[in-house]
Amino acid sequence: MPVSVSSQSDLQLRTETLRHLRIPVWLFDVEALRFVWANDQALMLWNAGSLEELKSRDLHSDISNAVGTRLKQYVRDLSVDDRTIEEHWTLFPKGDPQSYECIINRFILSDGQVLLQVHALKPFRESDVDTLYRSNALLHTSVLVSVYDARGFRVYSNPMAREVLGGTNRVLSEHFVDTDLGARLCSQLTVSKSESIEAQVHTRHGSAWHSLTLEVCPDPISGASTVLVSETDISERRRAEERVHELAYTDTLTGLLNRASFHDRVDEAIAEHDESGRAFGILFLDLDRFKLINDSLGHSMGDQLLEAVARRLIESVSKETTVARVGGDEFMMLMPECSDGTVSVAVADQIVEAMRRPFDIDEQRLSVTPSIGISSFPEQGLNLSSLMRNADLAMYAAKADGGGRRLFEQRMADDSNVRLQTENDLRAALAHDQIRAHYQPKIDVATGAVTGMEALCRWHHPVRGMIPPLDFVGIAEESDLISELTRKMLRYALEQQCLWQAQGHTISIAVNISPRDFRSGKIVEMIEEALLQTGCDPEYVELEITESTLMAEGQLIQQMLTRIKALGVKLSIDDFGVGYSNLRYLQKFPLDSLKIDRSFTIDPEHAALLKLIVDMGKMLSLTLVAEGVESGEQMAWLTELGCDQVQGYWFSRPMDSEAATEFLETHKPWVDTQSRLTGLIDG
Ligand code: C2E
Ligand code: CA
Ligand code: CA
Repeated sequence: MPVSVSSQSDLQLRTETLRHLRIPVWLFDVEALRFVWANDQALMLWNAGSLEELKSRDLHSDISNAVGTRLKQYVRDLSVDDRTIEEHWTLFPKGDPQSYECIINRFILSDGQVLLQVHALKPFRESDVDTLYRSNALLHTSVLVSVYDARGFRVYSNPMAREVLGGTNRVLSEHFVDTDLGARLCSQLTVSKSESIEAQVHTRHGSAWHSLTLEVCPDPISGASTVLVSETDISERRRAEERVHELAYTDTLTGLLNRASFHDRVDEAIAEHDESGRAFGILFLDLDRFKLINDSLGHSMGDQLLEAVARRLIESVSKETTVARVGGDEFMMLMPECSDGTVSVAVADQIVEAMRRPFDIDEQRLSVTPSIGISSFPEQGLNLSSLMRNADLAMYAAKADGGGRRLFEQRMADDSNVRLQTENDLRAALAHDQIRAHYQPKIDVATGAVTGMEALCRWHHPVRGMIPPLDFVGIAEESDLISELTRKMLRYALEQQCLWQAQGHTISIAVNISPRDFRSGKIVEMIEEALLQTGCDPEYVELEITESTLMAEGQLIQQMLTRIKALGVKLSIDDFGVGYSNLRYLQKFPLDSLKIDRSFTIDPEHAALLKLIVDMGKMLSLTLVAEGVESGEQMAWLTELGCDQVQGYWFSRPMDSEAATEFLETHKPWVDTQSRLTGLIDG
């Protein structure tokens, strides 16, 4: 049965792409026992002078009846089910036997006639490593590779793509579950020539998440554009990500939303206001003297009380109110509001009233009083941070009154001028070297050896004594002082690394970098400068950055991080788990390690989530560091979960450089695997 005229043009179009494959490919008509088409590589294989010559060959005498029957069977099999057959064939180009690994697919002409499409791979030979590798790569790779023609039809799929996507001749835009997205992408491609995206696509097993790269490759012969698509399945990663996200967005103790998701809700409410004009109120509730209960009656009692408070809060507010636990004994609520804050005030009064009833827990009767601060949007703050700050200030005012509720007033903010004073003091402190670096060791779980030290700043105040960073880093960040602080810390830390190195302690030094340092754009120069001035080997320098740094507008951050990495410096993500916990970001940036936040490592309840983070981190070849290790039990389960390094009070609090040097000199690796759990660590 000769190939029909209508099929001829179709054939020509669809073989354009096959033509350029670097492996022999031919189409074979099993009924007629004739070649229909072959690329140049196949012509060479078959020792043919031209395609016409190959097509003219009559193979009836070369192909035995048994082989002919088998070939017909292939056609029948492949017609029912579009799959790939792989076989070892001995071919006889001009009677000379040669063995090949053949990959056989069907090729359907527009008139329905089915041909065999055969790819032949040469058996392994030393000289062919490269070709073999390449062709094998295409045929055996787990990456799906497809080529779409100018009309959008799929004209080539490698075996993996055929297996996953099936043989349907879907157009490119319909490959996507969201066909609008598909159409948009196709039109963008005409301009950009190349796109990368993660999207849901159709497969023969249903929809799946794929990571796709689409590239326009002009066909050298017809001049028409073809689109080369390579894709991999990332469904598993997406599921893990969603799970982490879900866990990271709820408070496990009370089941309420946590701080991160509350912030999201506020942002949403602000965005909604732009459309609906709807106002809303924010309540910030803090329990008075909760710490006392927690310390005197124990954490378990404290936890039960928090759960009971959460339940009572839910009971006291309407369904439209969002309730979150944002810290130990801190709760926040978001509710629809009239513009003057009256609804929030009424709800706050209800809550104060409801909390008057004591809580019965473990046969003990406990009373707590709340202090509630209220700010309402848009009257008392136009963005998340000012709303939160104002609710916070109002809460402190309520606390100063001895409990109850207070609505924010401007006067309260004026009091915060105290901050301004602190800022001035801090400026002077930086100038007079009152800010110094303390160091906290990081320990290798497997050996017990010190792998590095983290530099943490301290303010040695002549009157107020030592001020912890949480009391002033925020203020530095809100002003331009943060650059100066970071510059100093880099300098101290790198100098200290050189000193230790000279004393025979080859360990890395980590410096905390604020998201603000990236925003100012000077960070790369600052690091270069510190390396240059101290002569420190960049291999031993690590920068701890936060997820919020990564989340800030993409391109620029990516460029800065790439430049920093090019200096040879290592990057780690600090406090992982409390923020967005977006694993995609981890993949996107050139990171070396992940420091899991203390809030996840103190509580075995988080083991499942932690395991997920550790596993994903390992997949991305990141070093996993657990922060805040305070006990042997904690050490035991963190080791079990597969963390690589640990840091925490269990080994050492942050120390000044003298004490840190002493630590390095006296610290001994584990005596044996048991010793790391029994505390036999510190010689
Ligand atoms: P971080 O980077 O997460 O540092 C860890 C904090 O946890 C340190 O508090 C450390 O003393 C404390 N810590 C370590 N092990 C344990 C433990 O086992 N239990 C408990 N409860 N806490 C532990 P520190 O020194 O007060 O620093 C607080 C934060 O201030 C740091 O958190 C970091 O975000 C920031 N910070 C410190 N120094 C700098 C700095 O030089 N630059 C910048 N931008 N931020 C800094
Ligand atoms: Ca840190
Ligand atoms: Ca941290």
